[in-house]
Amino acid sequence: MPLGLYIHIPFCRSKCPYCDFYSVMPSGDTVDKYVKCVCNQLRGYDNYQFDTVYFGGGTPSVIGAENIAEILKCADITDNHEITVECNPSDCGDGGFDFEKAAKAGINRISFGLQSAVDSERKALGRRAGAQDVKNAVKRAQSDGIGNISLDLMLGIPGQNEDTLKRSVDFCFSAGVKHISAYILKIEECTYFYKAKDRLNLPDEDETADLYLKCVELTEQNGMKQYEISNFAFPGFESRHNLKYWRCEEYLGIGPAAHSFIGGKRFYYGRDLNEYLNNPQPVYDGSGGDFDEYAMLALRLTEGLQDSMAFERFGFHIPERFFEKAKKYEKNGLAEITDNSISLTAKGFLVSNAIIGDLLT
Ligand code: SF4
Repeated sequence: MPLGLYIHIPFCRSKCPYCDFYSVMPSGDTVDKYVKCVCNQLRGYDNYQFDTVYFGGGTPSVIGAENIAEILKCADITDNHEITVECNPSDCGDGGFDFEKAAKAGINRISFGLQSAVDSERKALGRRAGAQDVKNAVKRAQSDGIGNISLDLMLGIPGQNEDTLKRSVDFCFSAGVKHISAYILKIEECTYFYKAKDRLNLPDEDETADLYLKCVELTEQNGMKQYEISNFAFPGFESRHNLKYWRCEEYLGIGPAAHSFIGGKRFYYGRDLNEYLNNPQPVYDGSGGDFDEYAMLALRLTEGLQDSMAFERFGFHIPERFFEKAKKYEKNGLAEITDNSISLTAKGFLVSNAIIGDLLT
């Protein structure tokens, strides 16, 4: 079975005040060194084939389409592939990220960070580009042959309400994108937002929950289907790469802070670019892929935990206690049960950690 391949590009031109992903500013010849290092590492995995590739970060568009094409040459990728690159619209103006070259290199999916189409909200998030820049970047990608575009939205932004959320969702549909990811803003320690949280005018927990449910409603009204807690797509445009994570399939992660799951083992590289450049050593992170982990990930999907799929993989049926416990959530509109499956509803996703924890104990 071909694997998924994740390449972490650990560079950002500036740090957004809410972000705790691992990234540093590109300087000197670090990008060149990094590309060489990633290529060397990939050559060590030449016994694997990949059918999905995801360049995440950081900001992959910072290193340009040429470097991404160079990295892709070092991996054995199937013809029927999905290759996604996360792009920052600020890098995608005239003379910026070359979508035509990217398309020629096999890239067929772009994920842009919109977060919000309302410029005051974008500003609060420290985003440099305006909503119009995002629209222009989407158009450029589409006219250069990459029609499968995803936009990221954020829920729970300072000052956000249902009207401004609707403007953001409408923006996505008017831009003709095929996929939307909508993440609830989490205030992480070690970020500027954490220090400033009392001054940020953040929607409270109930308001954020309402924003989430509104987002589900609006995307469905426009023809998309929710397929995961935070992901919505027109049929056939679900992220094949991310589905591998949620279906507990194998993937290789290259780069600092990248995680892998191969042959029942998990491993990762530490969050340190210099260490990675000088001596890239994966850190063993234990075994993975047992039934509990499989169930926990499957319950993030709207297809839910399916008995037939679990039986095929593990040779046993979903334990009866799962169905018994799920009944009380079904009564409250938080879960749905069929003969073959247990899945969470949109309301259930809002409290998924508690429900999944209960089902698994
Ligand atoms: S949100 Fe994206 S662009 Fe901003 S610092 Fe984090 S990885 Fe970089």
